[in-house]
Amino acid sequence: VVARLLDGRELANARRAVLAARVAALRNLGIVPRLRVFLPSGDEASKVYAQTKRAVAERLGIEVEIITLEAPSTDGIVSLIRSAAIDDGVSGILVESPLPPSADWGTIREALPAAKDVDGAGIGSLGLLVSGNPVFVPATAAAALLLAEMAGDVQGKRVVMIGRSLVVGRPLALMLLARHATVTICHSRTQDLASVAREADVLMVAVGRPGLITGEFIRPGAVVVDIGTNVVDGDLIGDVDAASVMPIAGALSPVPGGVGPLTTTLLLEHVVTAAENLFG
Ligand code: NAP
Repeated sequence: VVARLLDGRELANARRAVLAARVAALRNLGIVPRLRVFLPSGDEASKVYAQTKRAVAERLGIEVEIITLEAPSTDGIVSLIRSAAIDDGVSGILVESPLPPSADWGTIREALPAAKDVDGAGIGSLGLLVSGNPVFVPATAAAALLLAEMAGDVQGKRVVMIGRSLVVGRPLALMLLARHATVTICHSRTQDLASVAREADVLMVAVGRPGLITGEFIRPGAVVVDIGTNVVDGDLIGDVDAASVMPIAGALSPVPGGVGPLTTTLLLEHVVTAAENLFG
């Protein structure tokens, strides 16, 4: 038996069709959903991410403005966020990572208004998520959860989350808890990671180490969601060693073609929801 592939592209395409109809309805009312992206200059990968969002968005009728920031300061970004926050023409705000050392994420997170924080990165959004009443959750975490749910309900299941970053692991663990999963969070100091991982009905991996998760981490039949994106010799590969995991797992999200394409689509869904909320 070989694991079923959890196809993020296919799910993304299906959701994009629904999203295009929501955009058309807004545009009929004269409302254009618009995402303003603040892109610190110098990082090639984040530039590509921003341009990919814009390319997908344009096909759906959503506008993406990319504001490139040369040598951004904390105060500079905060004041850009404040003006976007009060601009009715801006539905969603996104600050691309990584930020240079001259900009402090902590202060920037505090400035992001939850109503337009479409990637759920701000302190307000995270607080709402902890309290069980989120507005927008991080799109990557939402994509990982949807892929896991393609394979079945997570309620009551043992889920092991490897990674505890503020952008992926922590919010995803809270989202799983809200779905009534039994959640274990692992990180770089977890002892005997493989045996903890083998307890999982659903294994979520967001570490950033190519091929870290091999077959010995997998309970037979487990659902495995690979959130890792690593570029090795020009190829995009995940944190999961698909060759050794596929014969043991019940389902696996591939890299590429899993979490990535779905993340972009969910982020754009959030932009449209923000636009609907702003005028609704
Ligand atoms: P991060 O901030 O570097 O966090 C990595 C996490 O992995 C940390 O919690 C770290 O533990 C843990 N870790 C590191 N080495 C480990 C090990 N050997 N065993 C167990 N845990 C270990 O990374 P991130 O931003 O969460 O991103 C994680 C991965 O997801 C990256 O590959 C990133 O590119 C990818 N990603 C993908 C998308 C997408 O749309 N597909 C979006 C965002 C991120 P400590 O906390 O103890 O340091």
